[in-house]
Amino acid sequence: MSDAQHNYSTAAIQAVFELQQKHQWEVARSGARERIARLRRLHDAVIRYRDDIEAAARADFGKPGIETVLSEIGPVTTEIRHAIRHLRSWMKPKRVSTPMFLTGTWSKILYEPKGVCLIISPWNFPFNLTFVPLVSAIAAGNCVILKPSEFTPHSSALMRKIVAECFPPEEVALFEGDVEVSQELLKLPFNHIFFTGSPAVGKIVMRAAADNLTSVTLELGGKSPVFVDENTDIDHAAAKVAWLKCMNAGQICIAPDYVLVHERVHDAFVEALVKKIHTFYGETEEARRQSPDYCRLVSQKHQARVASLFRDAVERGAKVHTGGGENISERFLDPAVITDVPDGAAIWEEEIFGPVLPVRPYKTLDEALAFVNARPRPLAIYIFSNDKRYTDKIHSGTRAGGGTVNDCGIHFYQPNMPFGGVNNSGIGGCHGEAGFLEFSNQRGVTWQNRIFPHSNMILPPYGSKISRLLGEAVVKWL
Ligand code: NAD
Repeated sequence: MSDAQHNYSTAAIQAVFELQQKHQWEVARSGARERIARLRRLHDAVIRYRDDIEAAARADFGKPGIETVLSEIGPVTTEIRHAIRHLRSWMKPKRVSTPMFLTGTWSKILYEPKGVCLIISPWNFPFNLTFVPLVSAIAAGNCVILKPSEFTPHSSALMRKIVAECFPPEEVALFEGDVEVSQELLKLPFNHIFFTGSPAVGKIVMRAAADNLTSVTLELGGKSPVFVDENTDIDHAAAKVAWLKCMNAGQICIAPDYVLVHERVHDAFVEALVKKIHTFYGETEEARRQSPDYCRLVSQKHQARVASLFRDAVERGAKVHTGGGENISERFLDPAVITDVPDGAAIWEEEIFGPVLPVRPYKTLDEALAFVNARPRPLAIYIFSNDKRYTDKIHSGTRAGGGTVNDCGIHFYQPNMPFGGVNNSGIGGCHGEAGFLEFSNQRGVTWQNRIFPHSNMILPPYGSKISRLLGEAVVKWL
């Protein structure tokens, strides 16, 4: 079967899918102990291959080792340990209370696996975004086919090796490959599709899923804004924004996309931001190019797209405070901070997904909120403020998947709440119990009391006084 995973013919994909369809009932019947054993195998393999994971991420896009530990290996191992700790309670059927109308019955929600699931992942955090949903899918008792991105071939090949070592293909299989492989997979009647990637491809996935009425989780992207209040620690805000904007060279779904800053602190914030970038990665473009802590863009095509957003803004009159230089053959793009970007520039509309940060002053918070709400709902909103009213007004005046107050992106590491988007930035959630539920069918079952089933009173013919009384009672009192 491992040959079949190397061969991307329709027949090979179909064969693994059918194998999983047959095997799903056995996997579904597995108890917590067996599922935990599967998760431990994956956990131990990720630890065992730690150096290779770092090497693969470096080979794919020059990612610094410590960033790979923090954003790829760590999130996977902590997700597994969290699932192992809580799986028994997640799996336990949940008793619910009984309304008066159903007196004498009892009801429970049973958490059963969806069946055979497809996970399609992007390139920007290849291990994290392939294995974290896999953890939830395994915890929920599913069979899984994985399709990582073609743009990180070293990471994808290593993941295939890890998966093949940990699982038989009737439980978990991985197909490397490009859009064509994805499209072949999307024709199959999976029971759930978990997709992480761009909103444009998310729509293609959802359309394909509709043909089989397959449920979907869509973890998408978008323009995540940062609000900077005048009443905040500017140096702290600048450090956090610079850090998350430059990590992974800005190729993060929850990277700050643009900053809206109160006009009174605009100049101080921009100055602090530039200083932070220079402190983190070097004073000159050459020093930043040599920095072992700053990674590369994933492909020249992607670099050209980000650079063209930068150039378009500059040609329209934007002021460059640092960065913007590039070395195309190295896929290096010097992190840029720009201001005075006029309305109508493409950078205000398209997700940047790279190391270019436009900063925009605002006079009133209402004006800043209107700017955000004129765009699709973001994946994250970041707020820097010491004023609770300011924070509350942003939370109640916008919609976003998640966010952080007085920091950037750390909500991603919180396993006790769902991580996901809303509308254009996604549908559904992942991480911890939210991920388990996403891959579970919640079957609601009510048990009737066999000694005196009240519902016998509403059997036809309906003319009796008691059934009329019962009808009245349901409408008016119960
Ligand atoms: P992408 O949508 O181009 O590709 C994602 C996956 O879909 C890849 O495996 C790719 O092979 C496949 N794919 C591409 N085109 C396809 C098509 N026409 N039909 C079927 N499958 C297709 O995304 P990307 O460039 O790899 O990643 C960047 C995007 O992902 C950004 O928008 C980013 O915000 C988003 N993202 C979101 C999250 C999140 O958790 N919400 C995390 C990371 C990235």
